[in-house]
Amino acid sequence: MRLVLLGAPGAGKGTQAKKLIEQYHVPQISTGDLLRAAVAAGTTLGKEAKSYMDKGELVPDSVVLGMVGERIKQEDCKKGYILDGFPRNTKQAEELDKMLAVLGMSLTAALSVDVPFEDLMKRLTGRRTCKACGQMFNIYFNAPKKEGVCDKCGGELFQRDDDKEETIKKRLEVYNAQTAPLMGYYGKKGIVKSVQGTGSIDDIFKKVCEVLGLK
Ligand code: AMP
Repeated sequence: MRLVLLGAPGAGKGTQAKKLIEQYHVPQISTGDLLRAAVAAGTTLGKEAKSYMDKGELVPDSVVLGMVGERIKQEDCKKGYILDGFPRNTKQAEELDKMLAVLGMSLTAALSVDVPFEDLMKRLTGRRTCKACGQMFNIYFNAPKKEGVCDKCGGELFQRDDDKEETIKKRLEVYNAQTAPLMGYYGKKGIVKSVQGTGSIDDIFKKVCEVLGLK
């Protein structure tokens, strides 16, 4: 399974990716997570990336392409992977195709998770993530039993810097201008599979498995 996940910020791509991983044991490659790890580690790359991320803009293609190029060559990616948050524009999609061609691989599908624009804002401003295990909650739709505490491991929940209102607006603009056109790019290749990303996480996951032909 070699999947690209398409969908606006807040569509629930990461949540569905985590469920696919639990069940199908392929790695998730989230460029957002890789960049946040570099920011947290204070590397040169992380420092450069942070200035773009805080503004809700895309990090330069060269940075992201280098990271993904390294990652998909690793041993655990031989059995497949889920690309989450990458590609984000046509240039990245073209470069990904080139990388895959060199490795003799192609994409199984581009899964689009569709959520009405009005819902995205609430999803993003309400999002909280566990510092310890990465589990995600939403204070409006999927609140933790105890405020600020992870149900799964008891870790502390936090709000991502780029989930603040101003940055979110910018991220959604950037999505519409740069990432949404990828639907056309993968549509031409005939590999787009779409699901409605509203309803319960488990119901959405069922639909995801159905459109991907998974049991
Ligand atoms: P995400 O967690 O996928 O929403 O990503 C958070 C932020 O990281 C984005 O707003 C961008 O600044 C940056 N980012 C993540 N993935 C990419 C990518 N493929 N290309 C450029 N910037 C990215």
